[in-house]
Amino acid sequence: MCRQTIQVPYDFPGQVISVISALEWHGHEAYVVGGAVRDILLGKRPEDYDVATSATPEEVMAVFGKKACHPTGIAHGTVTVVEDKFPVEVTTFRVDGDYADSRHPDEVTFTRSLEEDVKRRDFTINALAMKTDGTIMDYCGGIEDLRNRKLRAVGDPGVRFEEDALRILRALRFASEHGFAIEASTAREIMAKRGLLAKLSSERIWKEFSKLLCGMYCVPILRKYFDVFTVFIPEIAPMRGFEQHNPHHIYDVWEHTLAAVMYVRNEPILRTAILLHDVAKPECFSMDEDGVGHFLGHQKMGADMADGILRRLKVDTKMRETVVMLIKAHDITLEPRLRIVRRRLAQYGEETLRMLLEVKRADIAAHSVKSAYRLKEIADFEELLDRTIREDLCCSFSAMAVNGNDLIELGIAPGKLVGRIKKQLLDEIMDGALPNEREALLRRAKELADKYTC
Ligand code: ATP
Ligand code: MG
Repeated sequence: MCRQTIQVPYDFPGQVISVISALEWHGHEAYVVGGAVRDILLGKRPEDYDVATSATPEEVMAVFGKKACHPTGIAHGTVTVVEDKFPVEVTTFRVDGDYADSRHPDEVTFTRSLEEDVKRRDFTINALAMKTDGTIMDYCGGIEDLRNRKLRAVGDPGVRFEEDALRILRALRFASEHGFAIEASTAREIMAKRGLLAKLSSERIWKEFSKLLCGMYCVPILRKYFDVFTVFIPEIAPMRGFEQHNPHHIYDVWEHTLAAVMYVRNEPILRTAILLHDVAKPECFSMDEDGVGHFLGHQKMGADMADGILRRLKVDTKMRETVVMLIKAHDITLEPRLRIVRRRLAQYGEETLRMLLEVKRADIAAHSVKSAYRLKEIADFEELLDRTIREDLCCSFSAMAVNGNDLIELGIAPGKLVGRIKKQLLDEIMDGALPNEREALLRRAKELADKYTC
């Protein structure tokens, strides 16, 4: 039974209206469902609109014609209708059969009932249906829960998590993105059923977890549901409560990490690098005679551990390599001097170097105030980096005003000597000792050739 109906005027994209109108014209029911309705009520413009309908996939294809329809998930009743170049996913109302494996329903059965369809959905806030005239239909109490910013499973949370363990991570992801409080029995079952996450594919885990990491409210979730995350990243377990015994730190390793997560921009590479930047600290710990803790080599070991974790979670190569590099470099000194800036730029490239600055800034901000002066160093370094880019200062062989052939034409023997002189010229340019100008470089090359050959 529909618990509540409310009216919310909303300007749907024309294509969504025309897909729904066409289905209705042919005597079927059709609604916008799921995340889009939730987002509309939250005042956010949805990225996509899913339509649920009483029509079977064959009936949907009969309405729009084979040309406009792509059977993207036909086994689950989904047909993507492309209307005016705009794809709309249209899914037949369905109920899911048993889930023997905590991942996939053994079978799905189509139904003509909207109520049955919304009740198979994961959370009350995702179980709303909306007509294009703005009527929102609520069978599960989602409107009330949204109003109270509560995340609640539809039905018995324990059963729902057993059916599909991904819902555990989805719950934490929605809480992290929107700051929802998780209703008590849903929260209890998240903890109780967390072991089932081990059955999921790495791809599904990472997709949800990386969104969770980028949520505005992720820190309290990472803290409170730590034991959920150690199911698929057991390497972080020793971090919690690991005291650092170091005047530069006021937090244990895990709390320091959480503070740094809060300080870094919510972008997946940065958040992942920060989450794992100190993962090797417990392994690398030693205490000197004065009772001060040290973590020799934790950067390199942490990078290796992150590499293993991200490979296991099947994270794409570019992202994994960047994260690993950032972790390895997170403690390097970045002296704010032009020659150092240009060297680092040559070493890492602008994009990665800027990310490294962001990682370092967040890391330092999460230390004790004793480290605050290092933030100034980062700011000065960044200023010099901006200048290097703005003035297009040369940092690479390819940007030098002479090349190997020019040196050979000067009479320098091709081979090792040319390489050596080129490197020396680039060093001197980056140190500011030599302008990147053809005449000056050729003159200096001659001098160097004479010096090296005599
Ligand atoms: P987002 O805004 O991130 O896309 P979403 O809620 O739209 O969030 P989708 O993965 O696009 O998430 O799923 C669309 C809808 O399908 C959900 O709102 C929910 O109703 C339902 N759904 C998705 N995954 C599950 C699941 N594992 N179990 C039950 N229902 C689900
Ligand atoms: Mg969605």
